[in-house]
Amino acid sequence: MKVEFDFPLKAYNTFGMDVSCARFVQIDRAEEIPMMGDVFDAPHYILGGGSNTLFTGHYEGTVVHPVFRGIEKADEAGDSVLLRVAAGEPWENLTEHCRLNTLYGLENLTGIPGLVGSAPVQNIGAYGAEAKDCIVKVDGYYTDTLQPFSLSNEECRFGYRDSIFKHELKGRCFITHVWFRLSTLPRFNLTYKALAQAMEGHEPTLDNVSETVLAIRNSKLPDIRKIGCAGSFFKNPVVDAAQYTALLARFPDLVSYPAGEGQVKLAAGQLIEKAGWKGRREGDAGVYPLQALVVVNYGNAKPDEICQVYRQVIADVQDLFQITLTPEVNIL
Ligand SMILES: Cc1cc2nc3c(=O)[nH]c(=O)nc-3n(C[C@H](O)[C@H](O)[C@H](O)COP(=O)(O)OP(=O)(O)OC[C@H]3O[C@@H](n4cnc5c(N)ncnc54)[C@H](O)[C@@H]3O)c2cc1C
Repeated sequence: MKVEFDFPLKAYNTFGMDVSCARFVQIDRAEEIPMMGDVFDAPHYILGGGSNTLFTGHYEGTVVHPVFRGIEKADEAGDSVLLRVAAGEPWENLTEHCRLNTLYGLENLTGIPGLVGSAPVQNIGAYGAEAKDCIVKVDGYYTDTLQPFSLSNEECRFGYRDSIFKHELKGRCFITHVWFRLSTLPRFNLTYKALAQAMEGHEPTLDNVSETVLAIRNSKLPDIRKIGCAGSFFKNPVVDAAQYTALLARFPDLVSYPAGEGQVKLAAGQLIEKAGWKGRREGDAGVYPLQALVVVNYGNAKPDEICQVYRQVIADVQDLFQITLTPEVNIL
C-alpha cells in the first residue's frame, strides 16, 4: 500500500481535470483492504481508471485506487472457460486476453476504458452487449464491516448502466475480483445495427469483430489522449408511452427503443442535438461534434466550465422536451 497527501489527480481522470485529493491510497494487494477500516470510516472514493468520473474540484477525502492485477483461468468445462480477474486489471487487457486466447463474449466491449473492478458498477455496455452477459459473480469486501462478499450475477441486479453497486451498495463495497464465463465456441452478438452493417459480407471472427468495434468507436468518440471526456455523459432517458406519443407529434423522427411495458427509451444524443448542443463549444468545454452524448474538455477546461456546459444541456433539453437528462458519469 502507498499513501500520499495532496495528490494531483490530473493523470487519474480521463476528463483531464487538474484537481487533487487530500489523501491518495494505492492498494497493491486485495488482502490489504480489510485492514483499511480507518480509510473507509472517513469520506473516500474508490477510483479505477477515472473514465466515468468528473471531479468538480479538490477532493477533501481519500481516493483509494486499486492496482492489483491478474487474469486467472479458474475453470474450463464443456465449451466455456471461467476467468477470475482482479479489479486493478485494465479492461482492455481483459478483452485482449480473450482475443488472444480465442474466448468469445466480450468482443463487443473492446475499447472501453477503465479497470475491471468498475465494469460491474455500471454494467458497461456497447454495441448490443453488456458486461452482465458474461459476469458470473463479483467478489469484494463491504467497506463498513470489512467482511468479504461474493454476489452472483442475479444478486448484482444488473440493468441498463445499472447494478446494486449504484444503489444499496453505493459507497459500501470494494470490488476485488470479477468472474467471467466466456465461450470457447464462436458466439457473436451482431444485433446492433451499425456493427451488423459494418460486418456485412464478412465471416465474423474475434479479430475482425474487435477491429470493427474499435473502428466504429474511433469514428464517433474522442481520443482521450487528446480530448478529455468520460464517454457518454448522460443516460438515455425512459419515458412513458403517453409522453412519447405527444413528443412524436412534435418530433416525428424521434429515435426510440422499447423499454418494457408502457415505457420507451429515447436517444439522449438526439435530444441534445435537437436542443442545439451537438458540436457547441464554450471556451475549452463543449459537446463533441461527432457524438452529442459526450461532454468534452478540449484542453484546459476547468471543472466549473464542464459543469456549466452539462447543466445547460440538461436545462435546454428540459425546456424543449420536458425530459430531465440524468448524468451517467459519477460527479464528485
Ligand atoms: C472515451 C470513453 C468511452 C467510453 N465508452 C463506454 C462504453 O462504450 N460503454 C460504457 O458502459 N462505458 C463507457 N465509458 C465509461 C467508462 O469507461 C466505464 O464506465 C468504465 O467501466 C469506468 O471504469 P473506470 O475504472 O475508469 O471507472 P472510475 O471512473 O474510476 O469509477 C467508476 C465508478 O466505479 C466505482 N469503482 C471503481 N472501482 C471500484 C471497485 N474496485 N470497487 C467498487 N467500486 C469501484 C467508482 O467509485 C465509481 O463510482 C467510456 C468512457 C470514455 C472516456
